[in-house]
Amino acid sequence: MANKLIYFFGKSKTDGGGDMKALLGGKGANLAQMTKIGLPVPSGFTITTEVCVSYYKNGRKAPPELATDMEKAVKWLEKEAGKKFGDVKNPLLVSVRSGARDSMPGMMDTILNLGLNDATCEGLAIATGNPRFAWDSYRRFLQMYGDVVMGVQKKNENDHEPFEEVMDALKKEVKVKDDTDFSAVHLQELVKRFKKLIKDWTGKAFPTDPVKQLEGAVFAVFSSWMNDRAILYRQKYRIPDEWGTAVNVQAMVFGNMGDDCATGVAFTRDPANGDNVFYGEYLVNAQGEDVVAGVRTPLAIADMAKDKTIGAAHKELNDVRKTLEKNFGDVQDFEFTIEKKKLYMLQTRNGKRTALAYVKIAHDMVKEKLMTPEHAIKSGDPEALNQLLQPIFDTEAYASAGKEGRLMAVGLPAGPGAASGSVVFTAGKAEELAAKGLSVVLARIETSPEDLRGMIASDGILTARGGVSSHAALVARQMGKVCVAGAGDIEIDYHKGTLKCKGVTLKEGDQISINGTTGEVFHGKIATADSELKQVLINKTMKPKDSKVFQYYDFLMKLADKYRTLGLRTNADQPDQVVNAIAFGAEGIGLCRTEHMFFEGDRIIAVRQMILAKAEDDRKKALATLLPYQQKDFEGIFRALNGLPGCIRLLDPPLHEFLPQHDNKKGQEEVAKQLGTTVTEVARLVSELHEFNPMLGFRGCRLGILRPEITEMQARAIFQAAAVVLKEGIKVKPEVMVPLVGFKKELDLQMDIVHRVAGEVMKATGKKFAYTVGTMIEVPRGALTADEIAESAEFFSFGTNDLTQTCLGMSRDDSGSFLPAYQGLEIIKANPFASIDRTGVGQLMKIGVDKGRSTKSDLKIGICGEHGGDPSSVEFCHIIGLDYVSCSPFRVPIARLAAAQAALRHPPKPVTVKVIKDVKAKSGATKSKTSAK
Ligand code: PEP
Ligand code: MG
Repeated sequence: MANKLIYFFGKSKTDGGGDMKALLGGKGANLAQMTKIGLPVPSGFTITTEVCVSYYKNGRKAPPELATDMEKAVKWLEKEAGKKFGDVKNPLLVSVRSGARDSMPGMMDTILNLGLNDATCEGLAIATGNPRFAWDSYRRFLQMYGDVVMGVQKKNENDHEPFEEVMDALKKEVKVKDDTDFSAVHLQELVKRFKKLIKDWTGKAFPTDPVKQLEGAVFAVFSSWMNDRAILYRQKYRIPDEWGTAVNVQAMVFGNMGDDCATGVAFTRDPANGDNVFYGEYLVNAQGEDVVAGVRTPLAIADMAKDKTIGAAHKELNDVRKTLEKNFGDVQDFEFTIEKKKLYMLQTRNGKRTALAYVKIAHDMVKEKLMTPEHAIKSGDPEALNQLLQPIFDTEAYASAGKEGRLMAVGLPAGPGAASGSVVFTAGKAEELAAKGLSVVLARIETSPEDLRGMIASDGILTARGGVSSHAALVARQMGKVCVAGAGDIEIDYHKGTLKCKGVTLKEGDQISINGTTGEVFHGKIATADSELKQVLINKTMKPKDSKVFQYYDFLMKLADKYRTLGLRTNADQPDQVVNAIAFGAEGIGLCRTEHMFFEGDRIIAVRQMILAKAEDDRKKALATLLPYQQKDFEGIFRALNGLPGCIRLLDPPLHEFLPQHDNKKGQEEVAKQLGTTVTEVARLVSELHEFNPMLGFRGCRLGILRPEITEMQARAIFQAAAVVLKEGIKVKPEVMVPLVGFKKELDLQMDIVHRVAGEVMKATGKKFAYTVGTMIEVPRGALTADEIAESAEFFSFGTNDLTQTCLGMSRDDSGSFLPAYQGLEIIKANPFASIDRTGVGQLMKIGVDKGRSTKSDLKIGICGEHGGDPSSVEFCHIIGLDYVSCSPFRVPIARLAAAQAALRHPPKPVTVKVIKDVKAKSGATKSKTSAK
């Protein structure tokens, strides 16, 4: 490999920095950064992500020069630490940790205390004068190395960890409760038993040579990039497989040398609710993983101040807290160790947080000038904003549950919101019940990365053990799951399938309710109610001034509006939907599907009459019945829009969708009765309308071309509604949109009707109004001939649902049977009906934009397919220069934030202005300016 494989951080030199996450991974880059700003970081080195990428490219083989580079790096580290690797007197021990560009907590592997064997352990015991510590470190190393590198792992989810089982047996034999109660002699025995376990399990002896150990550990970390849970995690969070992980090798410091030592994890603010409090926990005389693994119940960080031995470190940590926020400009989630009262920083990263914490922290830290407004926007997950709309408990039902004495336990409030559903004890069962559509609360003694699938499937997560930084709390925070962690009073028995507390026993499937905002656990169901955001914006049952959540959200949304250049519209067919969308920030309608209105009340009878009529006159009669209904619908919509643009699409679906099919004889009888004809006749007409591929059949503008009276009726309804609302003094901006256009002539034929009707209505009503007529671009031919179509069209809107199905040749209704398998096989990365397939469909869109604007440079172009509310697709729409995105009302906040992020990630390119020669001669320089899109 041509590039440098290893970067150092330490007293003598630091090669990397906080801005090198792609190469050094988040952990490596931040260790370098912390070293640079003078925080106490043990020295170490980072093997780059490029090495991991090359490892996979070459069939899991590292570049040949890695071994010698690692040897040199170890020599350097020995000098830094003043200790030698494998030295029997004063051995250097190291930690080996993964570190991807984006943190993937708990998904990959870590090994501590590497470098120990029988001889160095003796040496460590003598050098530290603390044999107990030496043997404890050794048994931990065997445990981690045996698990991660040699594969000594439990086989089923409810089995015990093999090493834990051996340790528990010894605890019983020597009658101790905690691992800290073991003496040096006990630990020596444990080491013997662990080595035997490894030999029995794998048939191989534990490697004693530290260099071999290091090699094994580094490759195990690379391999863990491709373990099941890491792959699943990357799929969920769309982290590309190609990134690879870095490996950090760092001199060990010890939190397990005695009562003047400790280890802990902390957040600079509360990651569950965003409060500006120092939040975290620690364990005295323990090593890193103990805190997260929930082996012992950790203490709150505030308690450290009262500790007589290590109390001074609390003040130091508080200072670190401030330094970190100031330097990293965001809430930090960090790990530390106190070795003989001295504080060391082992890691820092931007803290994962719930959506509530995200909006509060963004609001507070921007105001405190600790976070840049740009970072406040960029660092959020738009999709997570949905959490703010998640239900809370209904006030009355919640109060009655309390009065009825249904409160069972109180744990840590680790993920805000309310969840009520069937309790299950395994991830598999959670998936099974959720697939049946049931609400599920997954209750585990503690969760581990193997539970990830079940956690994704559940509405809520409850654990009996573990603190605020336990795996359950961590994952819940990130996924926005309702979570109560460490509810110590509950007893879960996996084998019996029961959860017991205060004399109440719940069996699998029984109802349970958890309040992730307060930490309460109730038995039985509790009804839920709308979130505060909905109460303020939608129901208007709460005033903005009474809701802090709303105020934080509103601050962030207004900030997003400052950056986004994309307009925001909504797909809505009813006035109430329009009002909701506007409350969320929509600036108009991007798609009103008129056919949805045909199903309301008993107007479907007239629709069916219109479809089944044989003579044009009968059809016109039926349409005349429909016209006042449609007009009223549009009046309502124009009033709700109150002057904002409304893009109304002419009839689109295949007509058979409005008729009862042959498997619905009762429906056909009803229609026959309504229309005064026979069932046989209805059945015959339904057969006549049958199509083999209705999505590619008689639909879209083809309907209005062959049955122009339909377009005429709809255009009249739109314009007469516009005239009525205009008379009321409300501005209107109708945009008439023709669907499924692939030929310019199709659009022209429809435009002729629309323009004629508009003229007639203006004349009849005496009201003049501006309107535009445009087209959807949703078949490949439309995109490919966009230059011709733009000669007529006044705007384009990409119908990416149809454009995806026609570009990929995959039916949007039937692709569910093979898409998941396609994703599994990585033929496609993401569902193309949810997120734009940039390389395929995206190309058609780009062609459509370029060709359309080659004819009309200011052609307005939007998107109204489902992709308009998907963050990655919103970003793509920004990149190719669309004017707006349109999505369903409740996704408007998501699109709003995604659009701002896109604008920040892809600022307009500076345009080099050609300089006229004599000006150049005078100034001698080339000027450039930044152009807005
Ligand atoms: C589309 O095809 O993207 C679109 C918005 O139209 P519909 O989903 O109604 O076919
Ligand atoms: Mg369509």
